[in-house]
Amino acid sequence: MTIRAQITVRGVVQGVGFRPFVFSHAQRRALKGQVLNSSSGVLIDVEGEACTIEEFIKEIKTNSPPLSLIESVERSVNLDLAHYTDFRIVESSANGRRFTHMSPDVGTCDDCLKELFDPQDRRYQYPFINCTNCGPRFTIIEDIPYDRAQTTMRDFEMCRACRAEYEDPNDRRFHAEPTACAVCGPKLYLLSANGLDTGGDAEIIERVRDLLLKGRIIAIKGIGGFHLACDALSQEPVQQLRKRKYREDKPFAIMAASVEIVRQHCFVPDAESHLLQSGRRPILLLDRKPTSTIPPEVAPGVNTLGFMLPYTPLHHLLFRNLDRPLVMTSGNVSNEPICYDDDEASKRLHKIADYFLLHNRRIHMRTDDSVVRVREGQEMVVRRSRGYAPAPIKTAFTFGRQVLACGAELKSTFCLTRHSYAFVSHHIGDLENLETLRSFAEGITHFKRLFHLEPEVVAYDLHPEYLSTKYALSQDDGLTKVAVQHHHAHIASCMVDNQIDGEVIGVAMDGLGFGTDGRMWGGEFFVADFAAAQRIAHLAYVPMPGGAKAIREPWRMAAVYLQWTFGDEFLDLNLPFVKGLDKRCWTTLRSMAATRTNSPETSSMGRLFDAVSSILRLRDIVNYEGQAAIELEGIADRHCTEGYDFGLSLGNAEDVIDARDVIRRAVGDIMDGVPPAIVSARFHLSVARLIVAVAENVRSELRLNRVVLSGGVFQNLFLLERTCEMLRARGFQVFTHSRVPTNDGGISLGQAAVANALIKSGRI
Ligand code: ZN
Ligand code: ZN
Ligand code: FE
Repeated sequence: MTIRAQITVRGVVQGVGFRPFVFSHAQRRALKGQVLNSSSGVLIDVEGEACTIEEFIKEIKTNSPPLSLIESVERSVNLDLAHYTDFRIVESSANGRRFTHMSPDVGTCDDCLKELFDPQDRRYQYPFINCTNCGPRFTIIEDIPYDRAQTTMRDFEMCRACRAEYEDPNDRRFHAEPTACAVCGPKLYLLSANGLDTGGDAEIIERVRDLLLKGRIIAIKGIGGFHLACDALSQEPVQQLRKRKYREDKPFAIMAASVEIVRQHCFVPDAESHLLQSGRRPILLLDRKPTSTIPPEVAPGVNTLGFMLPYTPLHHLLFRNLDRPLVMTSGNVSNEPICYDDDEASKRLHKIADYFLLHNRRIHMRTDDSVVRVREGQEMVVRRSRGYAPAPIKTAFTFGRQVLACGAELKSTFCLTRHSYAFVSHHIGDLENLETLRSFAEGITHFKRLFHLEPEVVAYDLHPEYLSTKYALSQDDGLTKVAVQHHHAHIASCMVDNQIDGEVIGVAMDGLGFGTDGRMWGGEFFVADFAAAQRIAHLAYVPMPGGAKAIREPWRMAAVYLQWTFGDEFLDLNLPFVKGLDKRCWTTLRSMAATRTNSPETSSMGRLFDAVSSILRLRDIVNYEGQAAIELEGIADRHCTEGYDFGLSLGNAEDVIDARDVIRRAVGDIMDGVPPAIVSARFHLSVARLIVAVAENVRSELRLNRVVLSGGVFQNLFLLERTCEMLRARGFQVFTHSRVPTNDGGISLGQAAVANALIKSGRI
């Protein structure tokens, strides 16, 4: 007997071939009816034998395309027959409650690559080839449901051949929304000071390759923004690029044609190689080989190089027959967000780039490249953006009310929630200027519309001066506003990342975050759950003379720590640091610090790393965030096993950790001629030992055995690995970040979890 069933599949990611999948299975079973994307999910209306429909539903649940992320499959039966005569995909309806998942951009797939380089194929060498399994998604979507008319591809009308593929259920471009070809789709342009060069796509790419090899700097429009590209093997253009971009030392990302070429410069173990070649195509931080011929200017002072493989057809064409890697850094001026619009790019980048390789497919949402590393075979996201966002982070709990969490300041992200999903935004950048703030606010509006979210709760950092805090407080009065302490958010973020809850020992080793006592925290131990974080130990406070200037000038922290450890007699120490010290400047700073004038107090572990780096004469002034600590990690001797000891004075509520013994021993070592590599390693190991010691104290009192590690300092792999090993050796269960960054890019997720828990527990 023929029956009719309506099936609603919720949570399906749009644009990954789910409807074609449904179509082909319905056809195979001779079911009649229709499938359509609606705002509440994919709706399937079928007629056929009851048992056939059962099999069909089972197939959907078990065999749907891997990227489709199905949340639920609901059905209703006993409906009047509609007497369908065939099965078809119908145009989308935009009715009802709008919620759907959206695919991140996906790197060019193997099938498309084959066509791209097949002279017989009609898309031979077409730089915008894509299909149901690959191509732009998040960056071109203006609204949902995901249909061509709601993407920036609506500017291009499909030619007959493209439309035939698009409408043919047996074609691999069936309903691939960005489908295009050289006849109907986007085109390349080359812009120079002399005007527009409008050759064929292939000639333009040939030309660009020549220019790059001649040492020119080219702005290349990609999928989520502009890159600035130059030859990675010659010093001259790399130096030029640094100068023009006002970027002194921060490492540049590199793109290479293949894993084999990456292997000429870096060690690439299996897990890394796999990730490099995945559809997400992140920048992977890899250990550099001593034999690499990449000049030091590409990544000064660090042992790693950030490599990615081509991820758009344009990249693949550019890198064909190119055995040299290219620098491909974000197309922006230092500290500004990445450019994504042609006019804007030519305005902002004209002093940096000699040429512009443009195309006329608009980018709706800018996204930077993602940065990841692999630790113990597991992915660890450092910057979560293209290829990752806007895929949600699944949580082990449900959000009672929708939350907007505004994040922190540096490496800013925001987060919106719904049910058991947290939509952590792509990387926005450092929220320090209006340009970035605008991009932040636009991003929030876009996410709200795309995922049809209307948050009732706004979570934000305690720091009153963060632009994200000001943004949160300027929102509608009707919304519930929840301030979340920075390091509580870090710990909560790592808990969500690992899908755990309940009480844990939270270790936040960080740069700076506003504390509940108004001081700048960053070396903190907590007993925490989502709803509360009780501080149980912290680094002793020291002044930061000059405030923000003490962050840019680690020598100030070095002098502060030396003065605290040895008194003013530190100036008599036979130490290269002291000899190089500007005594006059220090005298001023010393009295500033003594009277606490413009000298906020801090318990930051990041600042202690800065101090040690400068005492070792590695870095007195930094050119980017974390540079002193990164260089300190870079020199650490991997074979060293002993460390120094921190002092620990037990307090009533909070223990205070005293770094003076560590400073004293390190200085003694330096004066004894112990190599800096050993001093650095010993310092790292002392921090790891400190963490174990405090964790053991807590365990013996409170019987907690789970340790959660978060905060920017744990980007330091040498520290992270030693800490994990030592904790595990003592039987602790250790949790670290993988899906969201341990740095402030993960803060918004933690804020959302804390706000939710506070509301659920009735505390707000
Ligand atoms: Zn493809
Ligand atoms: Zn076409
Ligand atoms: Fe932080």
